[in-house]
Amino acid sequence: MGIRLGCIADDFTGATDLANNLVRAGMRAVQLIDVPAEGADGRQPVDADAVVIALKSRTVPAAEAVEASLRALAWLRDAGAEQIYFKYCSTFDSTPAGNIGPVSEALMEALGTGFTIATPAFPDNGRTVFKGHLFVGDVLLADSGMRNHPLTPMTDSNLVSVLDAQTEGEVGLIDHTVVAAGAEAIRARVDELRREGVGIAVADAVSNDDLVRLGAAVRGLPLVTAGSGLAIGLPRNWGFEPSRAAARLPPAGGHAAVVSGSVSVATNRQVQQFLSGGRPAFAVDPLRVAAGEDVVGEALEFAGTRLGDGPVLVYSTEAPDAVRTVQGRLGAAEAGELVERTLAAVARGLVERGVRRLVVAGGETSGAVVRELGVNVLRIGPQIDPGVPWCAAALADGDTLHLALKSGNFGGPGFFTAAFDLPATEAP
Ligand code: ADP
Repeated sequence: MGIRLGCIADDFTGATDLANNLVRAGMRAVQLIDVPAEGADGRQPVDADAVVIALKSRTVPAAEAVEASLRALAWLRDAGAEQIYFKYCSTFDSTPAGNIGPVSEALMEALGTGFTIATPAFPDNGRTVFKGHLFVGDVLLADSGMRNHPLTPMTDSNLVSVLDAQTEGEVGLIDHTVVAAGAEAIRARVDELRREGVGIAVADAVSNDDLVRLGAAVRGLPLVTAGSGLAIGLPRNWGFEPSRAAARLPPAGGHAAVVSGSVSVATNRQVQQFLSGGRPAFAVDPLRVAAGEDVVGEALEFAGTRLGDGPVLVYSTEAPDAVRTVQGRLGAAEAGELVERTLAAVARGLVERGVRRLVVAGGETSGAVVRELGVNVLRIGPQIDPGVPWCAAALADGDTLHLALKSGNFGGPGFFTAAFDLPATEAP
């Protein structure tokens, strides 16, 4: 059986979030990091019901985002995908010039379809859409922190007008009275919008029930565009039901370790909890790395003698003041890159020393670690905490490595030990 759903995600952690929702709804899902290169490897069949290709296309120029998305589409169609899901952020993060509109229209054209929906709603995460307006928790998008986002400031909460400014075609609305009335009513509204020449319709959703109704209504559409929320309603179109089997991973033996390069509030708390439990931990000081000291070697020596006794932590996580001091001395971008490179080298050394269960904290840090390990295929397993599943990757020597890639603010305070209490091969 080939793949059913082919997904194109505009960033890495968003791809994992989507794949996690699909697995929870019963589809076996694999995440590919970027479009596989041409050649024998790229043609390997993937044994999954859904494939999510993770791009880095959210903030690049629109033409680049379109090009990467079309390459992903070509790969997914080649692999037999019956429906395409373009996944963006549930706060509709996009630059004023795009990229959600241009990518959606390019995918529509390539698929030869004149209509798709846009539904970023993810009520479980507090993202709801009503009358086309996106709410973050209790406030409109433009009144939320997204207003001041450094790369994708969102100053208009009306998604119909946001999308209209990014597209050439007409944008319409499937409003909540229609969505609440069920799949039949939604389909009738879609027919009406198509007759009016609308290309993309923003769909209201304020609850998971709305997403399930929308999911049923978009059965058979060649393309849907959404946050990760719509994924809870799609798998049942192919008869998938939530099951433990979808989250099963190949087993991984070996040692456990945590590498943390996130400086978020949640990660600071997780590091503190790990330390207060008396667990072994090695702090990476970016200034010592910058001075040319062999911090990677020290970290690996420290970890090497302790790996037999449960998870070891190597971390650069610091409180905001300390991070600012480092940034002031080295420059923010330089410090970030230096730390990412250091932690990626540590992760590789840990795997060389027999670590086969690895938690990585930090979105950018995770990207650097998977690149350093040469990982480009992740099978998605059981969820540890909302949005963070265990994943399995095949190492060059054929061994299986279990990875949990945690973006900064995810996970409870005990995440760094609790993650290892959940056998990755079994769904809870
Ligand atoms: P998050 O998901 O929390 O945003 P990221 O890994 O994406 O985490 O980003 C954190 C950034 O901060 C990375 O570039 C990382 O290298 C950098 N960083 C981590 N620790 C320090 C530190 N002690 N000083 C300065 N920068 C740091």
